[in-house]
Amino acid sequence: DITTIFKSVYFLLLNLHTFLPTLALFLFSACLCLCPLLFSHLVRPLRSWCLSSIQAHDADRETEGEDRPHTPSYLRPPVAGRAQSDSGSEPSLPHSRSVEFDLTSPVSPSRPKSPWGRFDPYDNNEDQDKEYVGFATLPNQVHRKSVKKGFDFTLMVAGESGLGKSTLVNSLFLTDLYKDRKLLNAEERITQTVEITKHTVDIEEKGVKLKLTIVDTPGFGDAVNNTECWKSVADYIDQQFEQYFRDESGLNRKNIQDNRVHCCLYFISPFGHGLRPLDVEFMKALHEKVNIVPVLAKADTLTPSEVKKKKIKIREEIEQYGIKIYQFPDCDSDEDEEFKQQDLELKESIPFAVIGSNTVVEAKGKRVRGRLYPWGIVEVENSAHCDFVKLRNMLVRTHMQDLKDVTRETHYENYRAQCIQSMTRMVVKERNRNKLTRESGTDFPIPVVPGVSESETEKLIREKDEEVRHADHELESHHQHDHDHDHVSDHNSDHHEHSDPHPDPEPPLHQLEDEAL
Ligand code: GDP
Repeated sequence: DITTIFKSVYFLLLNLHTFLPTLALFLFSACLCLCPLLFSHLVRPLRSWCLSSIQAHDADRETEGEDRPHTPSYLRPPVAGRAQSDSGSEPSLPHSRSVEFDLTSPVSPSRPKSPWGRFDPYDNNEDQDKEYVGFATLPNQVHRKSVKKGFDFTLMVAGESGLGKSTLVNSLFLTDLYKDRKLLNAEERITQTVEITKHTVDIEEKGVKLKLTIVDTPGFGDAVNNTECWKSVADYIDQQFEQYFRDESGLNRKNIQDNRVHCCLYFISPFGHGLRPLDVEFMKALHEKVNIVPVLAKADTLTPSEVKKKKIKIREEIEQYGIKIYQFPDCDSDEDEEFKQQDLELKESIPFAVIGSNTVVEAKGKRVRGRLYPWGIVEVENSAHCDFVKLRNMLVRTHMQDLKDVTRETHYENYRAQCIQSMTRMVVKERNRNKLTRESGTDFPIPVVPGVSESETEKLIREKDEEVRHADHELESHHQHDHDHDHVSDHNSDHHEHSDPHPDPEPPLHQLEDEAL
């Protein structure tokens, strides 16, 4: 009855502390038994439902032209012509194109866990269930390989001496590349010819190695007579192309050293009225060999309005003389407005007005790279003072790869095409000459036996000549012998009318020649 029940409950409650461990054990065991059931019937369906809805959402977003939210930024393809903001923040990337997948394709079999999983940002349990083959990691593989190999870049600086070339290079790469530079006096410079000097430094930043080569042209424009002083610079560029062409056509093409000049910073004096004849001559002679980036040197000697006017004048003259300087790649029409604005600013900065300094000064409590004047401080890295940061960003952060691509695809290709054309012309000329001499019968070309070196060919020819001469001699003596024999036979026949009815038949002449040969 009810009283007994109450009594039992009362008794249980009073002795709860003794039953508690047993109760806990019972509950724990029950949970353990129920967990797999719960997982298979509740958590799994819920999880699958969540994943499919996320996938559907992603697909919707991709068709609308948005990036996958979980795609790491370093896996997105680089975009030519993308400029970066001065603050150095990573620029926003263009919208990815929607990709159509074949929905009828079979579901990929479940993959075994890759030992390279640590290099695969998608190799997690979540992605195991999806249709995932793994080629999404291709950019990552390229990235890793390039970082391991390292990068190289060759920059040439040209322009009249004293315009601040070495100071600017040191400021750009925060190095001292001109430690051993010897400056010539005026007398020595009168007859000085243009020299080409090369400085190479290995720089490393956040694990990325860059082999930087600076090619300087001391003596350019220094002599009294500067006619064709650009020639040695043009020859140097051609020599690098030639070397590359030879290496590329050789047997061992694995470790070719690329010394081709990727960019030439041409320094324009701030003191003249636009371009000088020498500037025009230089740029016209080299614009089809190298990417020319004109810079307006020592911009701190000009007021902002003077800089503006000079830039416009120089741009007009470049156009007027048909000089083809390096063209920044056009940005796509679907880029965002901010990016288009940056691109336009970069194009309008040509020629970059630069200031160089190797000293650090204190400005507004901060230590900055700049030049200290009695009336104030000019800061090299201040965008309001000059275009130094724009130039550095363009050279290093945004357009280095494009400069290399244009060198390879346009300038080197031009050189290569010219080279092959002139080689073909030479071969045709030589062949025609040989044909003529063969026809005239005076001189036979020496055939080159493939796979046999020249000296061996000559030896073979000499041996053959010797054999032919020997055969001729034998042939002659044979004739002589026959003649004598005939003579004797005639003579004998006079006395013996019945001589041998079957004399040795004479071998035909062509057989003898064949044998000799
Ligand atoms: P380079 O012969 O073209 O390599 O010129 P240098 O770098 O040796 O510079 C020649 C002189 O110009 C040195 O006294 C530098 O301090 C000075 N100089 C370099 N850059 C600038 C600049 O941006 N503005 C001014 N005012 N002087 C500079």
